[in-house]
Amino acid sequence: MLMTDLIIIGCGPGGYTTAAYAARHGLTVTIFEKGELGGTCLNVGCIPTKSYSHAAEILYECFEIREYEPFYDSPDQGASMHGLMRWKNDILPELRKGLATLLSVPGITLVNGEAVLKDAHTVTCEGKDYDAHHIIIATGSHPLNLPIPLAGKAIKDTTGILDLDDMPDTLTVVGAGVVGMEMASAFAISDVKVTVIEYLKECLPSMDKDLAKRLRKSLERRGVTFHMQSAVTAVVNNTVVFEEKGETKTVDSDLILMATGRGPNVEGIGLDTVGIDYDRHGIKTDDNLMTSVPDIYAIGDVNGRQMLAHAAEMQGRQVVDHLLGIKRHYRPDLVPSAVFTYPELAAVGPTEQQLKAEGRKYKVYKSSFRSNGRAVLMCTTEGLVKLIADENDRLIACHVLGNHAADIVQEATALIQMGATVEDLRTIVHIHPTVNEVLRDAVE
Ligand code: FAD
Repeated sequence: MLMTDLIIIGCGPGGYTTAAYAARHGLTVTIFEKGELGGTCLNVGCIPTKSYSHAAEILYECFEIREYEPFYDSPDQGASMHGLMRWKNDILPELRKGLATLLSVPGITLVNGEAVLKDAHTVTCEGKDYDAHHIIIATGSHPLNLPIPLAGKAIKDTTGILDLDDMPDTLTVVGAGVVGMEMASAFAISDVKVTVIEYLKECLPSMDKDLAKRLRKSLERRGVTFHMQSAVTAVVNNTVVFEEKGETKTVDSDLILMATGRGPNVEGIGLDTVGIDYDRHGIKTDDNLMTSVPDIYAIGDVNGRQMLAHAAEMQGRQVVDHLLGIKRHYRPDLVPSAVFTYPELAAVGPTEQQLKAEGRKYKVYKSSFRSNGRAVLMCTTEGLVKLIADENDRLIACHVLGNHAADIVQEATALIQMGATVEDLRTIVHIHPTVNEVLRDAVE
C-alpha cells in the first residue's frame, strides 16, 4: 500500500495546482485522474471556449477595422469551423503536456484511474488501496439538463458544442448565463443567426444589472435575438418550444445549446460509505474547506461555492496552508470573474444592487471607453467602468463592460485587496496608451 501525506481525487485546476503547491511545501502527494489531465477547465471549459471567444474577437476587430482601407482589404471570408476546431485541438495537448511536466516532480505520484473513497484515509483505484493522512476531493462538475422532454441530435451541451464538424447557420442557446452568453457572442460574430431563450428577466443574474443589460443590447445590435422571461418546455429534434408572456412559441435551428448550469460530481466517489454530508449543490464544507469527516476536504466545483477555475486553485492553496499551519488571509469575497463575450464583462466585489439591498452607503465612480485613446484606435469604444467605494472612499468593487474588462478588473482586485482608496488610485501612473487608463479616469 502506498502511503502519502495527501491524496487528491481529480486533476482539474483545483487538483493539479494543489498537488504542485503541496509538493513545493514538502508534502508527498498521490493524485488520481480518471480522464484527461486538466479537468473541465482545460478540456471542455475555460480554454476551448476561450479559443472560440478569442477567434471571434479577432474576426470582430477585423470587421471593425475593415472600414479603414488600406489597413484591411482582404476579401470577405466566413469563419471556418474546421480551422477553429483544428486550432483549439492543437492548443489542448500542448497545455496537457505542460501539466504532465508540472506533476512530474519528486513528491507527486500521478495515478490514471477512477478513485473511490474507502474510509477517511484510504481510496481504492482499480483494486488497489492508497493511504494518506489527508484527502482532498476535487472531482469537479457536469452539465445539468432541464427536467423537460429533450430529444434529437441537434441538442448539444456545453461539451458537445466544442466538437462540431460544421458551422451551423442557426443556433438556439437555452440559458443566458456565462457560457450561454459567451457562445451566443462567439457564434454571432461568426455570422451564425443566434437566438437566446432565458427564464429570468435579465441575463447574467450575478452581474451588475445595468452592465448586463448593456451587454444584451450590444449582442442584439449584432443580430442576436433574445427571448427573456421565457420558459423552455421541450426540445424535440430541431425545435425549441417555450412559453413567453402566456403564449406558446417555437424556434427552429440547426443546433440547440443547452447552457442550463452545472451540478457537482458527487456520485460514485464513496461519499455515503465514508459519511460525508452533501446535497445537490455540492459537498458541504466549513471555513477551512473540511467536509463533515475530519481529514477529508473538498475544493472547486464539487463544493458548489464558486464554480470558477481560479476559485478552485485558491481553495486548494487554502487547504494546504491549513494543513501546514501557514496563516494567510484568502479573500473568497474578492474572487473576480469575467464573461468572455464581445465586449467583455467582468466584476469583483458587490454590485450596486447588492449594496442597496444591504443598506450600505457607497459611491460610484464611472468612466467610458469612448474617451480612451487605446480603445478608439482598436475600434472598441463600447464600454463603461463602474468603480465603487465605501463611505470612507475605500475601493470595494469594480464592474466593467468593454474590451479587456477582465484585465481592468484584475487591477482593481489588487487595489481592493490592498485596501486602496480613491485617492491612492489617483496617484497610480498608468502606461499610455492602455485600456486600463479608464480605471484611473473614473476617479479623476
Ligand atoms: P474539474 O476541472 O471539473 O476537474 C475535475 C477532475 O476530476 C476531472 O478531470 C475529472 O475527470 C476528475 N474526476 C472526477 N471524479 C474522479 C474520480 N472518482 N477519480 C479520478 N478522477 C476523477 N472558469 C473560469 O474560471 N474561467 C472560465 O473562463 C471558465 N469557462 C468555462 C467554460 C465552460 C464551458 C465550462 C463548463 C466551465 C468554465 N469554467 C470557467 C469553470 C471551470 O471550468 C471550473 O470551475 C473548473 O474546471 C473547476 O475545477 P475543478 O478542479 O474543481 O474541477
